[in-house]
Amino acid sequence: MCFSIYKNCEFGSEQACRKKIAIIGAGPGGLAVAMQLTEQGHDVHIYEKAAEIGGRTSLLKQDGFSFDLGPTALNMPNVLTALFADCNRNIQDYIKLISLDPLYSLYIDDIVFSPSPHQDKTKRAIAQLFPGEEEHYDRFMRDNAKKMIYLLPIWQEPFTSLWSVFRLRTLRALPSLTLGNHLIDELAKYFEDKRLRLAFSFETKFLGMSPWQTPGAFSVIPFSEHYFGVFHIIGGINRLTYAMSEIIQENGGNIHLNQCVQQINIASKNITSLTLENGETVEADYFFLNADYAYAMSHLFFLPKSTY
Ligand SMILES: Cc1cc2nc3c(=O)[nH]c(=O)nc-3n(C[C@H](O)[C@H](O)[C@H](O)COP(=O)(O)OP(=O)(O)OC[C@H]3O[C@@H](n4cnc5c(N)ncnc54)[C@H](O)[C@@H]3O)c2cc1C
Repeated sequence: MCFSIYKNCEFGSEQACRKKIAIIGAGPGGLAVAMQLTEQGHDVHIYEKAAEIGGRTSLLKQDGFSFDLGPTALNMPNVLTALFADCNRNIQDYIKLISLDPLYSLYIDDIVFSPSPHQDKTKRAIAQLFPGEEEHYDRFMRDNAKKMIYLLPIWQEPFTSLWSVFRLRTLRALPSLTLGNHLIDELAKYFEDKRLRLAFSFETKFLGMSPWQTPGAFSVIPFSEHYFGVFHIIGGINRLTYAMSEIIQENGGNIHLNQCVQQINIASKNITSLTLENGETVEADYFFLNADYAYAMSHLFFLPKSTY
């Protein structure tokens, strides 16, 4: 997740002059911002406290083996393809993506359900294991495709003030948020067999939640897996963050490892500089905070509330 702090910036416009940008954190969010800003010709510096890039999507090497420390499979690669295309790169020149079929195998009680990115195959599997539910699967996919069309744009927009909530696009998406309904209730509208409801809600454990607590809007997650597929990157998801850093460096950007930002300095409600743990002060025209938001707000800003 990336949080930007703007002054009077016209990034991307023809007139935009070269600005110095400081980014805190070399997780996928910080790297994505740096890719785009270096592509636009800005002088970009990422300050990363760890010895490696990647954040929670980084790599552990041990005894000749490599392990992904965070995510292991990729969903909706179209988002990444668009990011690379924005930087005039073809993602396939950097990473090798394999579409998994089956998506995964789920062992629930006495059955093994292995859905496919091909919906006709999934329907056949459902018809075999849960006769009669295959039509319900069709309806689930149809309804969630519509839900996705309304929800995706608002998930990709910043909410910078209370008024953002009242944008037409947001108001139109309200019914799709199925407020007050939990995911398990949403799924009960479609699937009669409780095992099938679990098969379409296990992803909530990745969010540290249960389907009985997760908002109903999250039905778009199983939908997106079934619709777009689940992908493996040869070498692991960490290859993606390395590919991103490669592009940043090709574009002349700088990634400073082992450089912990200790403080974000503010004057007249604007961020003016960063103080690194080694005492160095970093000034820049724009600052991007990619560190965990709650941690950053409580540890990196040291100002009385009245001055915010
Ligand atoms: C086990 C596991 C499984 C996961 N599975 C999935 C999944 O299937 N799908 C999915 O979408 N997501 C998954 N995630 C989450 C995913 O890894 C994160 O959403 C993603 O890495 C967030 O990227 P980010 O750039 O916003 O933040 P981060 O990856 O957290 O990067 C933030 C970076 O900022 C650096 N930093 C923090 N403070 C400072 C400071 N003061 N100075 C300098 N640097 C600083 C950190 O060291 C870090 O490198 C998983 C995570 C884990 C741990």
